[in-house]
Order: sequence, then C-alpha cells, then structure tokens
Amino acid sequence: MLMSELAQADVIIAGAGPAGLAAAFACQDEGLKPVVADTSRTASAAAAKGRSAALFNKTIAFLQRLGVWEACQDAAEPLKTLQFVDDTGRIPRAPDCAFHAVEIGEGAFGCNVANADLARAFAAEAERRGILAIAPGRLTGLSSGATGARAAFEDGTRLDAPLVIAADGRNSATREAAGIRSFSWAYGQIALAGSFSHERPHNGVCIEFHRQAGPFTLIPLPGNRSSFVWSERKADAERLLALDAAAFAVEAGKASHFALGHISDPSERAAFPLSTVLVREYGLARVALVGEAAHAVPPIGAQGLNLGFRDVETLAALAGEARRRGEDIGGDALLRAYTAARRGDILSRTLGLDLLNRSLLSGFFPLQAGRGLGLLALGTAGPLRRAFMRRGIAPANFL
Ligand SMILES: Cc1cc2nc3c(=O)[nH]c(=O)nc-3n(C[C@H](O)[C@H](O)[C@H](O)COP(=O)(O)OP(=O)(O)OC[C@H]3O[C@@H](n4cnc5c(N)ncnc54)[C@H](O)[C@@H]3O)c2cc1C
Repeated sequence: MLMSELAQADVIIAGAGPAGLAAAFACQDEGLKPVVADTSRTASAAAAKGRSAALFNKTIAFLQRLGVWEACQDAAEPLKTLQFVDDTGRIPRAPDCAFHAVEIGEGAFGCNVANADLARAFAAEAERRGILAIAPGRLTGLSSGATGARAAFEDGTRLDAPLVIAADGRNSATREAAGIRSFSWAYGQIALAGSFSHERPHNGVCIEFHRQAGPFTLIPLPGNRSSFVWSERKADAERLLALDAAAFAVEAGKASHFALGHISDPSERAAFPLSTVLVREYGLARVALVGEAAHAVPPIGAQGLNLGFRDVETLAALAGEARRRGEDIGGDALLRAYTAARRGDILSRTLGLDLLNRSLLSGFFPLQAGRGLGLLALGTAGPLRRAFMRRGIAPANFL
C-alpha cells in the first residue's frame, strides 16, 4: 500500500518545516499528489522552539486558504504599529519612526504567532488531509531525466516524481544535489529568540531598537507578553545566553529602555547565528527551491517565512497550471518561469536587509548618514511612508 502510494506521487517534498508542509497542501489543492520526506519526524517541531513568526496579511490569507490559520489564530496577536528606534548612540541619530497599519487602510499589518503553535496547526492539517509523510533519513542520491527525478534515501527508500521541491532549510542537501550554487556570508552576530512578560500592555506595537550590534525587536503576543529577537555580537550573545532567567529579564529591560516596563518570566532562549544565503537560480534539474533552501536572511523586518510562503504559492500555482495544460510540472520551462517570478521579490528583500544590518554594524559615516536620511524621509513624506509600508508587507504584485 505504502509503496504503491509512493510510486504515484507527483511531487517529492524534502523537508517538513512550514515551507515544506505549505508546499504539500498547496500542491494537493492544485490536484497534485505530494509525498513529504524529512530526515526525522520530530526535527521541525524541535526547530520551532523559542521563535515566533510575524506573518503579514497576505500570508495569513494564504494560510487560511490552506486550512492552517484557523487552528492558530487564537494564539496570534495583531501587529498594528511598527516603530523603529535608533539606539546606536551614533551621531547623527536617525529619527524615531512609527508606521501605523491604519495609514494604509488596514487594521493590522499582520499577526505574530509562536512557531510552536504554527507547527501544531500544520501538523493537524497534514493529518486531516492525509498527507503522506515519511522519515527515510538523509538524501543519498538525486538524478533527473527527461520524464522525472529519482531521490534515494539513507534507509533505501527510492522516490520517483516529475518535480522535487527542496524545503530542507538553509543548508539544503537537495539544493546541493541538484547542482544549484549558493552563496552565503555570516555577520558574526547571534540572534537570541524567545518571549517574556512585561508590566505594561504593548498595544499591538512592534518595536525595533536599532543597536550597534544589530536590532533588538519586541513583537507582541497575546496578553502582556512579547516575543523578542535580540541580535548581539557572538561574545555578548553567549554571555546573555548563560544568564539565569532573573538576570536575563533585567538585561532585557535595560536593552528595551523599559519601553514596556519591567520584564519578567522569560522563556527558554534559542540562539541563531545570523547569515545570508543567496542562490543562483530557484529551480534546476527538476528541483525547485522554497523557503530557506531558496533564501536565508537576518531576522529583521519579519521577511523570511513570509517570503517562503510566497515561493510556495507561486510554485504551486505554476505547477497546477502546467498539469491542467498537460505540460511537464518539473520541466525546464516551469523552473525558468518560477525563477523569473521569484527573483525580484527575493533579491530586493535579501539585499535590503543585508544593507540595513551592515549599516548598524558599521561605523562608516556615509552608511550611517544614509540610514538616517532614509528614515527621516520615511518619517515625514506621506506617499513614501505608505509605499514603504505596502512594500514592506508584500511585493507590489501581491497587493
Ligand atoms: C530568530 C528568528 C526569528 C524569525 N522571525 C521571523 C518572522 O517574524 N517572520 C518571518 O516571516 N520569518 C521569520 N524568521 C524566519 C523563519 O523562521 C524561517 O524563514 C523559517 O523557519 C524557514 O522555514 P523552512 O520550512 O524553509 O525551513 P526549516 O524550518 O529550517 O525546515 C526545514 C526542514 O527540513 C528538514 N531537513 C533538513 N535537512 C533535510 C534533508 N537533507 N532532507 C529532508 N529534510 C531535511 C529539517 O528537519 C526541517 O524539518 C525568523 C528566523 C529566526 C532565526
């Protein structure tokens, strides 16, 4: 039974993280039969620990269509305002800027939800849909030909399908096996992520303190609680990680200038070294990349997973159309169309975040002045502010 189901798959998806499972659901909704292969059955739940994801409205609408959002919406908090505070201590100091969703006619830019809640909602929907998920170990071989690809795994499993979706994260083995070149660079920073309670309500305001070692961001959760992403240089991050809960709460309070009052009850902290990953193309040799297999960015401005879901939405729509026209769903024409459709969105955001992060780390005056002038213009010019807000939450052709 299992072997015959495997033999009939249209799409092999490597990776059962949020991008991989979203790809499975979206392909299924396009009439394609997916099989999901992860190295382990628990890896994605473990990876979800500590982090939250700020998801923009268009992403939420996509998750609603996939049947995922309903199960996590009660644990999600609307993000109504985004505030930037220059805390670099450098001269000239960039002006503080606040962007309100109402300025672009929205009640909120999106919602923040703990990754663990999102992972639970994905797992429940995968079960409801009867998605075939296996854990055959590492990928040991990948070959592609005129009619399909064959993936071989550590436990001897072999899967054949016309399209392989690589959703196996930033160090994607599937991407490498397909011969897609990637370029990555690290920043010497580590992001600590978790959540804590605070004295005063956040009122839906997400605050990003721009500090010399990187941003410190507070992202609202339900109640008087926020998740945080705190980027520091390696040695300082290690010191903060080693603190007990009470000492960490004091440090977090200081770093936030007590904007939400005193901080208490911090969760376990998870650490993520910051790097950027770019790839030469988003599809080759019957393999299409989605999520962090396609792009990894520093956790600034909540772009990573929002981009990943847009990859999935675009790819599934192209594959569904190709199937309805009787065309090859993993052929070169589809993969070229996919690369062309995703390149602008991914590159503009990746390079923009890289520049913003570097402008914080660097003492180079023109870079500092440029960041300050940019924020001044955004803070004062109405049309520019609105364009920035719309572009921040979705690429132009998604609005
Ligand atoms: C601190 C922090 C905060 C963030 N905040 C936000 C935010 O607010 N908003 C936002 O949009 N994004 C955010 N991101 C980015 C977001 O978390 C990532 O984009 C997202 O988790 C990537 O999902 P993914 O499914 O592509 O990869 P992953 O979640 O890494 O999943 C990859 C899966 O592939 C499996 N795997 C690995 N190797 C193999 C293999 N060889 N074969 C098969 N399977 C394999 C793994 O076990 C895993 O299950 C944040 C990131 C960090 C670090």
